[in-house]
Amino acid sequence: MMEQQKQYTRCLIVGSGPAGYTAAIYAARANLNPVLYCGLQTGGQLTQTTEVENFPGYPEGVDGNQMMMDLRQQAERYGTDIRDGEIVKADLTKAPYKLVTDSGDEIQAETVIIATGASAKYLGLEDEEKYKGQGVSACATCDGFFYRGKVVAVVGGGDTACEEATYLAGLCSKVYLIVRKDYLRASDVMQQRVEENEKIEILYKHNATGLYGENGVEGVHLVKHLGEENEEHYDLPVDGFFLAIGHTPNSSVFKDFLETNQAGYIKTILGTPKTKIPGVYAAGDVADPVYRQAVVAAGTGCQAALEAERYLTEINK
Ligand code: NDP
Repeated sequence: MMEQQKQYTRCLIVGSGPAGYTAAIYAARANLNPVLYCGLQTGGQLTQTTEVENFPGYPEGVDGNQMMMDLRQQAERYGTDIRDGEIVKADLTKAPYKLVTDSGDEIQAETVIIATGASAKYLGLEDEEKYKGQGVSACATCDGFFYRGKVVAVVGGGDTACEEATYLAGLCSKVYLIVRKDYLRASDVMQQRVEENEKIEILYKHNATGLYGENGVEGVHLVKHLGEENEEHYDLPVDGFFLAIGHTPNSSVFKDFLETNQAGYIKTILGTPKTKIPGVYAAGDVADPVYRQAVVAAGTGCQAALEAERYLTEINK
């Protein structure tokens, strides 16, 4: 058995998306010797996307994975101690705060920057569990490859759904976009891409209620015009079922100590990444129910590191 360790750091960063890595770059350059735990998905959500076209500084766009590797390198270059693993428990009662990793190590930290991001939502159907990894996915760019030449469905009407449908249309023979309303919520440019793609068929006012298939997904049970007079039930044969209906913030480890909104986003003091606990900050999507953009996450990561530095200077006066 591995020996469990107690360690101390002035600055612990939890999460390795744009917020975590940016916080690390700033904290490391300020000589805080930060320790960063990557979490379950090193690099965060951008490693599951294709091209990032809206991050300033990349006129031709940039591959999401590449961007995260670049950020990691930049954080490492200034001395961030980047570690695999997750923080699974936290005690934020008093400083130094105590955090426990998935290997049982306890880290004591003077400041904590929570940058744990958000995870994809599922509809909550039993069949999603049943067929997970056998036709159900929440990441087109991770799993789309397995559906080359096949028929798939994507659920959702936002930018993510449109982006995933467009990506899958490049691989699959047909993509159904299942939208519960009679319009798309996505930005105009994304909507246009979907509407102009001959392989994508948008099924407005449709809800998925279940999946069927012997060995993996063979189709989806659909309801059209749910709750209306002309409600209609039918089955649509598909090989893959992709969820793109938004995200849930990864705040559960900290929510006994910090205020969250109803959806679980950590509340921060307006215009800052400060939480109500001195020396504890929340940056990126875990605290951002509104914008949820990489560039905003990077910005708040920077703010959190600057605040951590100021706080440490103050308490060590
Ligand atoms: P959104 O919250 O914007 O959209 C979620 C979509 O899923 C909506 O169409 C919603 O329907 C639908 N939905 C939610 N719950 C259910 C359900 N239970 N059953 C059926 N449908 C459901 O999430 P996104 O992930 O698309 O986007 C999040 C943010 O990230 C946005 O700000 C977006 O602009 C941004 N983004 C930007 C990208 C880019 O610019 N390249 C790419 C991806 C995301 P309804 O409309 O009925 O609520």
